[in-house]
Amino acid sequence: AVQTLQKPSWLRKRLPPMEPYHNVRALLRTARVHTVCQEARCPNHWECFSQKTATFLILGDVCTRRCRFCAVRQGRPSAPDPQEPARIAQTVQALGLRYVVITSVTRDDLLDGGASIFAQTIRTVRDAVPGTLVEVLIPDFQGRLSALHTVLQAGPAVLNHNIETVPRLYGTVRPQADYRRSLAVLRAAFAAAPHIPVKSGIMLGLGETDDEILQTLDDLLEAGCRLLTLGQYLQPTPHLHPVARYVTPDAFDTWREKALSMGFRQVASGPWVRSSYHAHELHRRL
Ligand code: SF4
Ligand code: SF4
Repeated sequence: AVQTLQKPSWLRKRLPPMEPYHNVRALLRTARVHTVCQEARCPNHWECFSQKTATFLILGDVCTRRCRFCAVRQGRPSAPDPQEPARIAQTVQALGLRYVVITSVTRDDLLDGGASIFAQTIRTVRDAVPGTLVEVLIPDFQGRLSALHTVLQAGPAVLNHNIETVPRLYGTVRPQADYRRSLAVLRAAFAAAPHIPVKSGIMLGLGETDDEILQTLDDLLEAGCRLLTLGQYLQPTPHLHPVARYVTPDAFDTWREKALSMGFRQVASGPWVRSSYHAHELHRRL
């Protein structure tokens, strides 16, 4: 039987002021843009919205994959909307963002996995607000290097692709993905554009062991990844994968030190860390 763990005290969050939060929500709704903050039920969305930041979800809000830790709607997506990049750019302008994180659902139904729309969105945002830095959090594009290169040619500030968990758990929580293929994406990004920092992240609490985490950190380093996020997995809805353990804030600190000593250049590690959490700060410290 699956036991539900009691949530520890450090995972209680104080709600931020509501007015900026509601303003951002209204703005996003009017602009008809999706955010992973809302679609994935990120526990930080109150905080991030109230600080006027969000991570945009492009290529629609329906994903072709079925990861067991993810609350994004899963099914058959509709055709990409050619107006989406412009709407994202307008929203970036309206929010006054100078550092933007853009991610997408995984579009295994599209020939290029949506890479051309990624590239177009990066360029449209920069055209609308010159000087804006765009970090992209990309899917694996089923390992297609041409798709990866399309994104890299648009000049993102950071190329992020989440490894998410250790290889043993892929079959359970990320059945349509492949650990080696994801590593290969990171390695290919570093090889093709060594001036663009490569970033990845792992969720702790899915059932991995500490030794497995260490091995994955080694693999990421070997692939050229130098920016790392480590955060607590929190079951977004009751039917998704249960939380296997809660990692203490002290243990997250120890992981940060460990990762830095192994060779990562910037590491965000803590219970609330997500790949896009305070992303501009991680980049600024580079
Ligand atoms: Fe959105 Fe990232 Fe903040 Fe979560 S951590 S609310 S996904 S910007
Ligand atoms: Fe969620 Fe990404 Fe998995 Fe799709 S591929 S279900 S958006 S984690």
